[in-house]
Amino acid sequence: EKDKREASQFDTLRWAAKLFHGTLQSEAGSAALAYLTGKRGLEPGTIRRFGLGFAPESWDHLLHAAERDGAPVEHLVSLGLLTRHPKRNTLYDTFRNRIIFPILTVGGQVAGFGGRTLSNDAETPKYINSPESAFFEKSKLLYGMHAAKNEIRRQETAILVEGYMDVIAMHQAGFTNTVASCGTALTRYQAKILKRYTSRVLFLYDGDNAGKKSMLAGIDILLSEGLTPWVVMLPGNEDPDSFIRNYGKEAFLGELESEKSSFQDFQLRCYQDAGWMESPDTASKAISAMTRSIALIADPVQKELYIDELSKKLDLSRQTLREVMAASDTGGS
Ligand code: ATP
Ligand code: MN
Ligand code: MN
Ligand code: MN
Repeated sequence: EKDKREASQFDTLRWAAKLFHGTLQSEAGSAALAYLTGKRGLEPGTIRRFGLGFAPESWDHLLHAAERDGAPVEHLVSLGLLTRHPKRNTLYDTFRNRIIFPILTVGGQVAGFGGRTLSNDAETPKYINSPESAFFEKSKLLYGMHAAKNEIRRQETAILVEGYMDVIAMHQAGFTNTVASCGTALTRYQAKILKRYTSRVLFLYDGDNAGKKSMLAGIDILLSEGLTPWVVMLPGNEDPDSFIRNYGKEAFLGELESEKSSFQDFQLRCYQDAGWMESPDTASKAISAMTRSIALIADPVQKELYIDELSKKLDLSRQTLREVMAASDTGGS
């Protein structure tokens, strides 16, 4: 009974994705299509591959199409694609004047949507997503995973970026092992999905402070799930999409090679940049944090080698670092 209902909700999601995609190719989508191909540099094949769509500036585009095609309105309400007006008790389209990014499960079923506004209005949020439901649990989905999983396995590395447009630009540039965590902090669940395909993950988040912070947090999630994180730090005002558009694929490849660092070097650099290594009290905090990360690694040999490396980098004895690690282990979490 439940399975039957779920199957048809997935049908409804697929129907909606098709509708949005068709709208992008139609007269109503011409400005949106021009935005994607012009300003964002997407090729028609890329738009097709990711099934990108458009929800026009209308309160009842989806509603009318559902009536026309006989798509179940109650599904669209429970999936959050139609919203009920609390006072008037009428239904209206949730996604309006937005580029639509269908978000697929690993198996390729549409689970929900992200939507980017085309308006410059400061009040309008840049992105909205389908509301959380049994179908759409953001913390359990990785954007692009369906398209990337085979390459992730083949290249033995997953590239992790922040945004939908980053995934798409990366795939278009040939980095087809790229996925994103849908604008949330990386979760253990997402790390477990990645682990089915690879043990190496390269963080390539936005170069701003928020991006750095998220990478620092993500490192510990990956380590505790038995994955090895690597990091590329982009210049402060760039994300992978903008970097590729502004500087080209070759420069981007150079950036990947010259900026790629181990998670430990990245941590150390963050603490150095923040001035923490300059005085003993803050340096001690930074070193505790770094040994806490090492403590998350299950493999004893790796653990020992990271202690070894850190000891050389900091010019502190291994014994001291082991003591710090033991102390933070009992004191922490
Ligand atoms: P663009 O290049 O189109 O400006 P972006 O992907 O670079 O978009 P960011 O602001 O860097 O946008 O956000 C990164 C990602 O975080 C987005 O792709 C989206 O998945 C998510 N996100 C951002 N803002 C929101 C929001 N208000 N609500 C939900 N998710 C969001
Ligand atoms: Mn950002
Ligand atoms: Mn961007
Ligand atoms: Mn960004």
